[in-house]
Parts: sequence; C-alpha cells; structure tokens
Amino acid sequence: MKIAIVGAGISGSSVLQTLLTDPLTQDQEKQIDIYDHHGNFAQGNPYIPDSNALLMNSEANDLGLDAQHPQDFVEWLENHDNEDQMVDGLVYRHIYGEYLEDYFQDSYEHSQVKSITAEVTDLRIMDDGTCQIATFHDGWIDQLYDVVFLALGHAPYRNSYALKGTDDYIHDPYPFYEKMPDFDSTDRVGIIGSGATGLDIMRYLLEKEDFDEPITFYVRESLFNATGIPCDEEITTSLTWEWIEENMHSQTETLMLDTVLEQVEKDFEHYGIDWHSLVANYGHSRLSDNIRAYFAKPEELAKAQRYFVSIILIFPHLFQALSIPDQQRFLDDYFPYMTIMRASVPYSTMGLVLDALKNNRLRIVNHVSSIEANQSGTFDIYNDDNYIETADILINATGFEDDILKASEQSHLLKNLVKREMILPHDSGKGPLVAWPSAELMTREDIEQPIVMLGNIIHSTHLGNNNARLIASQGRIAARCFIEKYFGVNEE
Ligand SMILES: Cc1cc2nc3c(=O)[nH]c(=O)nc-3n(C[C@H](O)[C@H](O)[C@H](O)COP(=O)(O)OP(=O)(O)OC[C@H]3O[C@@H](n4cnc5c(N)ncnc54)[C@H](O)[C@@H]3O)c2cc1C
Repeated sequence: MKIAIVGAGISGSSVLQTLLTDPLTQDQEKQIDIYDHHGNFAQGNPYIPDSNALLMNSEANDLGLDAQHPQDFVEWLENHDNEDQMVDGLVYRHIYGEYLEDYFQDSYEHSQVKSITAEVTDLRIMDDGTCQIATFHDGWIDQLYDVVFLALGHAPYRNSYALKGTDDYIHDPYPFYEKMPDFDSTDRVGIIGSGATGLDIMRYLLEKEDFDEPITFYVRESLFNATGIPCDEEITTSLTWEWIEENMHSQTETLMLDTVLEQVEKDFEHYGIDWHSLVANYGHSRLSDNIRAYFAKPEELAKAQRYFVSIILIFPHLFQALSIPDQQRFLDDYFPYMTIMRASVPYSTMGLVLDALKNNRLRIVNHVSSIEANQSGTFDIYNDDNYIETADILINATGFEDDILKASEQSHLLKNLVKREMILPHDSGKGPLVAWPSAELMTREDIEQPIVMLGNIIHSTHLGNNNARLIASQGRIAARCFIEKYFGVNEE
C-alpha cells in the first residue's frame, strides 16, 4: 500500500503515527510519503522557530497530545528544564514545536516513511482509482498512491480589502522573522483585525519598536474575545461518549439540541454558572467587558471557560449528532457567544492591551468600511464610508478565508482541486464538503475518491477544529476510518 500525506503539522503527523502504530496496519507492507511545502515536519506552520512574541494561547495542561497520557506535555516541559520556556504562564510557540518534534520523532524515523520537502500543487485520479501527485518543481511524479491525506492546515488569509500584493501590506504575517519589515519609529502601523493573530502582531510590535504614533487596530465591528480568567477549580463535563449514546433518539439517530442544553444547564448549575448573565456580560466582544473582566476576574467566566475546554474533544461529535435544523439553531443562537468566551484573550495579553491603550502606545479604530492603497504608497482608511486617516504599513489579521472558492484563488493546490471538482463547497459555503468523521472529500455524484482532508479548513463539519489536541484527535480518527475501510474492522 502506498500512502501520501500532504502537510506535516499536527494533523498530518497524527495520521502518520496512527498508520504506523495501529494493530491492523503495523505488519502491513506500506510506503508512506509525507510532503511538506516548508519542510516543517512535525511542527507544522504555527510552531516553527520564530519570535518570542508568539505564545501558546492554551495552558500547558491542555496541550499534551498523548490521548492515554494527557499530561505528557507538562512532563516534557519539566524534563526540559530551561528557563526560557514561557512568559506569564504561557509557553513560547517554538517550544511547543520542539515538543512536537520529540513526540513524532519515531514516526518520522520509521523505515517505511519518506519525508519530502515540496509544495504539492495538483492531484488526479487514475483509471485504476489510484492518485497521482504533482509538485511545484517536478510536475507529475511517477509514484501512484492508494490514498492521499491532505493536512494543509488552515485556509489562506482573507483578502478583505483586496490589498494582497501591495507594497507595505503584509498579507500573511507568519513567520514573523521572515515577513515583518524593518520598521522605522515614524511609521504609522496598523493591524487589520484583533483576533489571535492580531494580538500576536501587537505583542511583537510593542516589544520591537517605540513608535511615535500609537499602533492601531483597524476593526469592522467585533473587537477582542473575552479576557481569559485563570481558574483553579477542576471543571469537568457530564457530556461523555456514553452520554451521547444513551441520549441518541432511537429512531432518528440524532441528539436533540434541547437535551444537550438541559445537560449543560445542569453542569452549569452545579458550578454556579448562569449562561444568560455570561452572554449579557461577556458575549459581545466589547472592550468595556474585557476591562471589567480583567479587573474583577469573575469566577463565573473562569469556570465557563474551563468548561468549554473540557468539551473540546467531544464538541464536534456532539454537533454532528444533532439534526440539521438543530445544528443550524446551535450555530445561530449559541456558537457565536461560546466562541467569544471560549477562544479567549490570555489574561496577561489583555493586561498588555490595557496598559498600551493607557500609555497611548495602542489605539482602536472601529467601524472600518474600506481600506485603499493610494498613489503615495500609503493606505487610506474609511470609517462608515468617510475618509478618516492614513497608515504607512498594514498587517493583515482578518482571519482565514471561509469561502473555499475565494480561498482557492490563493493556493495552487486548492485551485486545481476546485477546478477538477475534487473539492466541492460545504452546503454553508464555508470550506470543503467532507464526510463525517472520516473526512473524505465528497464529490458531486458520490464518486469514490481516495482523498481525505483535515485541519481547520474542514471546520464546517469538524466544528471547533482550531485546537492542537482536537486537530490531533481528528487526524487519528480519520486515519482509523481509512484503516477500517481498507483493512477491516479493528477488534480492539
Ligand atoms: C498562528 C496560529 C497559532 C495557533 N496557536 C494555537 C495554540 O496556541 N493552541 C492550540 O491549541 N492551537 C493553536 N492553533 C491551532 C492550530 O491550527 C493547531 O494547533 C495545529 O497546529 C494545526 O495543525 P495542522 O496540521 O492542521 O496545520 P499546520 O500546522 O498549519 O500544518 C500544515 C502543513 O501543511 C503544509 N502545506 C500546506 N499546503 C501544502 C502544500 N500544497 N504542499 C505541501 N505542504 C503543504 C504547511 O507547510 C504546513 O507545515 C494555532 C493556529 C495558528 C494558525
């Protein structure tokens, strides 16, 4: 059996590890080629050696990848006694990258595995159902694969203001050491968007340079997610695999959203959390809420945030068990608030934001309606369609392009797969259409194609796929689905 994995981050490496260690495949004759555009084997894009301004946004306790031994990252840190592992309780991202290299080392050193540094630009299915790969430098390669796992990470960044390619506009800021320019203290620097990437950039700029003018966040409507409040109490969920099975409707084989909500309400009651007051106080991305939370450190918010961490691994399974109308009701009425509270701004980072705002090193311009490159090589900013000011350098942090057709304009591979109709848009228009939980790419007429797609880009089905542990778990599940399909059901 010949297998290709494209993308060697946590997703691709988890697939690789599972294919090598599953009892059904361990003794099989196989060759696994793993391609990575940038040679980031095991680390993937977010965790390569880069600036110390880049921090993990989750606690070390929540970052272990070994499902049987979830504290393995904490223990790894203890065994790598090095003072420069973290700041304000958050581990540097490149340190997590070192852990990933150690964690996946055996898989990459396996005799059946070949690591290839190359950008994969195209795929095609042959008459016998195998798959051929083209790379940027070598074109179509001779090897034919029985299955291809695409573990490309997130979709390309949004090009919200059509500035991609403009001088002094940084479209995708990572890695910082390569993409960030040499700033001058007189530069008027703007960050477009205030999510996790925007905060990375802010931390970098505040450390790097004392600008004459404050750094500016340009945002449309929503500002920061809720402030992350440290929580000492252990919070667990009663939403387990067994609970899902017990509560599945026997005829429709779906779970009712109201049943899930009742159960969450019971858990919340137990911990003294009131969902309605949480939404009212912290569910709307308002700076005033962040400030209040930062100083008051509300226990209720801290516990709710821990609760959301406790459901990370089961979350997409719960979502997929709902009926389609209930999924939509969840997405409309609950998920936006949950996202704001769950994907929180680390407490120390919020401290940095508030300090920089107070000291006039940072400002926020809201209701940005358009941004245009002007003839003098700078950028005009419009707020509610009125010109308000000009910036010299803009850094994009608007998030990933959900629309797969637009996203494909920025990637050779996605463009070719969309053109060949090997990728179809998900019904919501967001990301590709994949099967649950196998993550196989679905085609128009249910034609079988041996291609599996993983990572954040499939978040419309694999909801919440922006977390290291969940990404690893989904990679393992997809690999196991493939193994069961091709080698038979695992008796273990
Ligand atoms: C900036 C950033 C910070 C994050 N921080 C955290 C965090 O603190 N905590 C957390 O839990 N989660 C975090 N995440 C979520 C993150 O998505 C996961 O933790 C995880 O690292 C994603 O792994 P992946 O394998 O899906 O993607 P990636 O790690 O991005 O790996 C994808 C790989 O595919 C390769 N590739 C892409 N296209 C091609 C191609 N055409 N040909 C060949 N190779 C290709 C890339 O070079 C890359 O190495 C962060 C995500 C980002 C983007």
